[in-house]
Amino acid sequence: MTHGSRTFPHRHLLGLEGLSAASLTQVLDLAETFLELSERPIKKVPTLRGRTVINLFLEASTRTRTSFEIAAKRLSADAVNISGSGSSTSKGESLLDTARNLAAMRPDVVVLRHHASGAAELVARHIDAAIVNAGDGTHEHPTQGLLDASTIRHHKGRIDGLEVAIVGDIEHSRVARSNLHGLTTLGARLRLCAPFTMLPHGIAAVAGERHSQVSVHHRLESALEGADVVMMLRIQRERMGDGPARFPSNREYARQFGLSPRTLAYAKADAIVMHPGPINRGVELDPTVADGGRSVILEQVTRGVAIRMAILYLLGAGSGSAED
Ligand code: ASP
Repeated sequence: MTHGSRTFPHRHLLGLEGLSAASLTQVLDLAETFLELSERPIKKVPTLRGRTVINLFLEASTRTRTSFEIAAKRLSADAVNISGSGSSTSKGESLLDTARNLAAMRPDVVVLRHHASGAAELVARHIDAAIVNAGDGTHEHPTQGLLDASTIRHHKGRIDGLEVAIVGDIEHSRVARSNLHGLTTLGARLRLCAPFTMLPHGIAAVAGERHSQVSVHHRLESALEGADVVMMLRIQRERMGDGPARFPSNREYARQFGLSPRTLAYAKADAIVMHPGPINRGVELDPTVADGGRSVILEQVTRGVAIRMAILYLLGAGSGSAED
């Protein structure tokens, strides 16, 4: 199996901000070949034999951690998994000390999830291995953004010109931020929708020169009107601290911002429904929609493995040019 000869001009994957349409498309195209591999009875290629991938997950994760591990194994890399409670950070070791000690064991790639925004970039500045950001605080979750783009492109045949609604707790969502960069770079128009209390003022500016492709909505119906893609987000209570409640009750939230058969009817008849998981059923997503014919949520998970294989391959096979 060959995976194309184009060089990926990045040494790390810290976010989708600043990645060109060509680089994003390179990852999406490569993931298609790995998706095909994942459908075979023998799901393994020797591509990363002899390489070491450390998955350092210092914040809760089910899908991302498992799919990075499966991705590394399907590429024949040696994968080592470390989680928060099983690591010395629970004994008070700093992130940088942990990272430097792991680097001393000469891994090729370190996949890092951390509750602090900027953690992946900090580690990348101090160790030699390629760093993949698997979610840093409220900042970015680039492989989620890529798997979302991959799922959208597969269903719609393109990303350019699509109307994508992202609904929910935008304020705390690294998924929304990665999609804001990735999808606008690929030409989509984004409608961000949330209550006033969960949609930071000036969020469209995150898209930089592409801010005119982003609109802000506080009514679900207006965000969904004619949308091609509807992406629902979980309310991230773990990032809200002890501050005042952002909305009166789950019931009230579901009534105003939840996706149900009634509200989905505002989107295009062939609109797809996405969610990065974990879902809070009955809050942001009605179960009949989550499990309905328009939902591509489990396909997102399947594509997540292929996207992570593509990233591990591009960064771990020694093709990076140390540009950033
Ligand atoms: N799994 C995603 C993340 O880690 C979304 C979420 O947790 O709601 O950001």
